[in-house]
Amino acid sequence: MDLPVDEWKAYILRKWALLPTSIRDTISTAGTLSDVFLHCSSLFQPEDEMVLKRLSRGYLVGKDPNASLFYKEEGNKKFQEKDYMGAAVLYSKGVSHSRPNTEAISLCYANRSAAFFHLGQYETCLEDIIRAQSHGYPERLQPKMMLRKAECLVTLGRLQEASQTISDLESKLAAKPTLAASHFEVLQRNLHRLKTKVQKKENLSETFPAALTKAFKDMDLMEESEQIPSASSSVSLCTDPLKGRHLIATKDILPGELLVKEAAFVSVLNPGEMPQLHHGLESKWNTRVTNGDLHCHCCLKHTLATVPCDQCSYAKYCSQECMQQAWELYHTVECPQGGLLLTLGIFCHIALRVTLLARFEDVGKVVRKLCGEIGNKDICLPESENMLKTLNYDLGENEENGKIVETPIPGCDINGKYENNYNAVFNLLPHTENHSPEHKFLCALSVAALCRQLEAASFWALKPGLKSSKPKTAVTHVLSPELNIWGVVMLRHMLQLQCNAQAITTIQHTGSKESIITESREIRLATGIFPVVSLLNHSCRPNTSVSFTSTVATIRASQQIAKGQEILHCYGPHESRMAVAERQQKLRSQYFFECTCPACHKEPRATAGPRWAAFCCHSCRAVMQGEDVLSCGNRSCTESVSRSHLVSRLQDLQQQVGMAQKLLRSGKLEQAVQQLLGCQHAAESFLPAEHTVVGEIDDHLAQAYAALGDWEKSATHLQKSLQVVEVRHGPSSIEMGRELFKLAQIFFNGCAIPEALNTIQKAEKVLSVHCGPWSDEIEELQKMKSCLLNLLPIPVGPSG
Ligand SMILES: [Zn+2]
Ligand SMILES: [Zn+2]
Ligand SMILES: [Zn+2]
Ligand SMILES: [Zn+2]
Repeated sequence: MDLPVDEWKAYILRKWALLPTSIRDTISTAGTLSDVFLHCSSLFQPEDEMVLKRLSRGYLVGKDPNASLFYKEEGNKKFQEKDYMGAAVLYSKGVSHSRPNTEAISLCYANRSAAFFHLGQYETCLEDIIRAQSHGYPERLQPKMMLRKAECLVTLGRLQEASQTISDLESKLAAKPTLAASHFEVLQRNLHRLKTKVQKKENLSETFPAALTKAFKDMDLMEESEQIPSASSSVSLCTDPLKGRHLIATKDILPGELLVKEAAFVSVLNPGEMPQLHHGLESKWNTRVTNGDLHCHCCLKHTLATVPCDQCSYAKYCSQECMQQAWELYHTVECPQGGLLLTLGIFCHIALRVTLLARFEDVGKVVRKLCGEIGNKDICLPESENMLKTLNYDLGENEENGKIVETPIPGCDINGKYENNYNAVFNLLPHTENHSPEHKFLCALSVAALCRQLEAASFWALKPGLKSSKPKTAVTHVLSPELNIWGVVMLRHMLQLQCNAQAITTIQHTGSKESIITESREIRLATGIFPVVSLLNHSCRPNTSVSFTSTVATIRASQQIAKGQEILHCYGPHESRMAVAERQQKLRSQYFFECTCPACHKEPRATAGPRWAAFCCHSCRAVMQGEDVLSCGNRSCTESVSRSHLVSRLQDLQQQVGMAQKLLRSGKLEQAVQQLLGCQHAAESFLPAEHTVVGEIDDHLAQAYAALGDWEKSATHLQKSLQVVEVRHGPSSIEMGRELFKLAQIFFNGCAIPEALNTIQKAEKVLSVHCGPWSDEIEELQKMKSCLLNLLPIPVGPSG
């Protein structure tokens, strides 16, 4: 997903292996990024381009009237089944495959408006009606839609507009009495009903409240740092040879304090698994729904009512505004390259977008500033060697050539200010020397291919203010000087991303209609670059927590941080998720460093490991210890068993749990409970009570009992699972917060008021530290709380 698709990767690696040793050596030992790029791009051949074109064509990114029809019909099926949510998404797919101003697109919008009507989303329904009309909704179908419009307006209390719509419809019917008699009668009856509704509402003395305006969510930093505008004044930027750039607490920080709030400089939505054509083996279109169908490709907002790009079926937005913004900033260049960008992967896509966002002028400015060529106000890029030299700028090279850096901390401006801008992005380390030559070859050829496509699409003509290169008449396989510089810049960004890409995550609530407890899991929604967040160093035991709203990252202290301590976050390998050896391996191979955090330092390397991943003795239940052969930790017990035997038992058990989960999902609750109780029994003989799998079993049992309406049993099991989570992740971890949230839901639904209030309080405390006081979860908890307090005759204090 980050890197190019496997077929292209394999093709390039084969090409690499077949290169003469001398050329491979030249590339391997090339000292600078521009040398790497120039060597590699000169090896890009027409046959490589053909391979890439074939792969790109596998993605359906264009408009296709047949697909539009297909999705509309699939949507209609869902609509008949009363699955209005499912129908809306499929109509959206239909919309995105239709050309603007066609009957097809107007029909899809109109049908989608009906789905939103049934979902009670009247505002969205009205928006879709307007969209259907603006794309030329056929006259013959108008009456039905106008009726729906009037109905929405009445429900929303917009009575004047409703009356207007009703009288418009009446005059329409009077002017053209061409409808079938029966049809006409139905319409008349409905009109009459609506008119009475309007009258009734008008007679009510109180006017309907306007749509509840959400109170402004004050998520701002208490006091902004002068040095780093996206960070709080409680932190400051430091640098030293060992740690590089890092953030330090300038005062004592309390848990939950907001430390960084930064909008992504660039972000690209992770499209999810895009259907790829495999020579007609499967049906051409499928109804599977991915991330890319449910989120705005610009602001990442979740929406069922997407508006597509006019040109492609791939890019979808939450609103006309987002569509416009994306088009102006980057999509105009990206749109014709949809299939290619999906083939080359997200990193390559971000590398392109970041340079488009920075605008060529700024890329030039930053590079020129580093060249020390200040004073030249001409916007066009100098084609000098100097330019290419500075692109290789890296911290290492910097020390040799003092002239390049004017500021003490890279990425800062002359006054020492570090901002979320292209200068800061450019200064993120590409770690050129650490990547393998094959990897650099793959990235460089992918970027070269992209450059070639952009040149063919004469994308230079689209960029005003650029000194345009002469129109190419003959096909050459040498990139123009501007494109070479662009290519080196994009290669730099692509290499930077391995260490600096930030996954933008969101909590996805899944679960069937029947499940009462929300099953939530964290998914990777997009990938972005956050120059300020990138300043934080890693720890497997971090003192902060990160969360996202749209494309904005917020970092909060997850514990007390004393003045002078470093602010740390986790790059992924968290001590509660991975064993030390695995973490070390991951950090070394992806981030090129040896972790010396307290968790890595203290944890002795060969013990029984944490209890949540240990085995226990079947006769005395003490923890088993050892490597290949495990023996009981209890000295008076002589049990011993081979590790592989226990591992295979664990695998069997996990499989059984997986089967129970399937039963649960398909609503076979009694069977699921039986299966899970069997699993629990099996687990008892070789896993400690704190083992993760034991916790999972309890979690599923809680879910099954909740669905069966047995709140007490459900709560008992969830409390057990909670204990496992606490052992593994700690009492104030985000994981603990989510479990407490679930438990609160169970008590709430079971009307166990004191227990519910008590749990809500605990959940609020934990979650607000990680997600801030304005997150959806906290809002939900507060709703539950006020609902419960209304049920009580007298206020209840924190009870047990
Ligand atoms: Zn949007
Ligand atoms: Zn497009
Ligand atoms: Zn560590
Ligand atoms: Zn024993």
